[in-house]
Amino acid sequence: MEIKKRSLWGILLIAMMFVLAACGGGGSESTSGGSDNADKESEKSGDGGLKDTYTVASDTSFVPFEFKEDGEYVGFDIDLINAIADEVGFEVKLETTNFDGIIPGLQTGSFDIAIAGITITDERKKTVDFSDPYYDAGLRIGVAVDNKDINGIEDLKEKTVATRLGSTSADYIKKNIEGAKASQFEQLDQAYLAVENGSADAILYDSPNVAYYIRTKGEDSLKMVGDLYQAEQYGIAFAKGQDELVSKVNEALASLKESGKYDEIYEKWFGEKPE
Ligand code: GLN
Repeated sequence: MEIKKRSLWGILLIAMMFVLAACGGGGSESTSGGSDNADKESEKSGDGGLKDTYTVASDTSFVPFEFKEDGEYVGFDIDLINAIADEVGFEVKLETTNFDGIIPGLQTGSFDIAIAGITITDERKKTVDFSDPYYDAGLRIGVAVDNKDINGIEDLKEKTVATRLGSTSADYIKKNIEGAKASQFEQLDQAYLAVENGSADAILYDSPNVAYYIRTKGEDSLKMVGDLYQAEQYGIAFAKGQDELVSKVNEALASLKESGKYDEIYEKWFGEKPE
């Protein structure tokens, strides 16, 4: 395609030179203008129309994937999207919002990309596009340290289970746990607090989040029980209609895995290499 365009310009140039020569010269400006345009044309098709800067939405707080520390956003997702952006060659304009605002924001075009431990689901695929999976997760239960009644998912029947608005966990509780009341919070801190102060019997949320929260903040008040429920995979989400960007991001993800950079980021946040 590029070659064809170039040779077309070449033919045009030669033709113009003949015309100019016939007119007795003096029109060199217009020929150089023509070749400039030809260069720009090939640059554009080479870069493939990617933007210099993309607006990337993330969650206000989902440890250890994104959270504020000393006034700055840090976490696994933040490191990963920055590494991907370096690899593909774009700047990240980070914007954080409540989790339940992320997918609507992609749909309305407020954001181009989102990384927020977003589980890939068929339902969400109807409204946004996803990268290849970048993290394997699932759902886990957290209860008060002194709770002896709840030891697994079957014990959550008829109980009040804290979760977050718009999450796969909220969906799971509604669909799979008989008689349970899903107490849905906008922010996760409120959900954990509800279990700590006894207004909810348990929290059911993403396994890495429950594990990290308990390890760093809730060791004295909360414990994890039961198994991993519902295997999930996280993907980077995109406003629809950016196929080229999605494939560039997938290539970058693969090359970060290949180079060991992905493992390095993983180890930084989870204390061990991925399995
Ligand atoms: N993985 C969960 C979901 O996609 C929640 C992610 C989050 O709270 N950031 O619904």
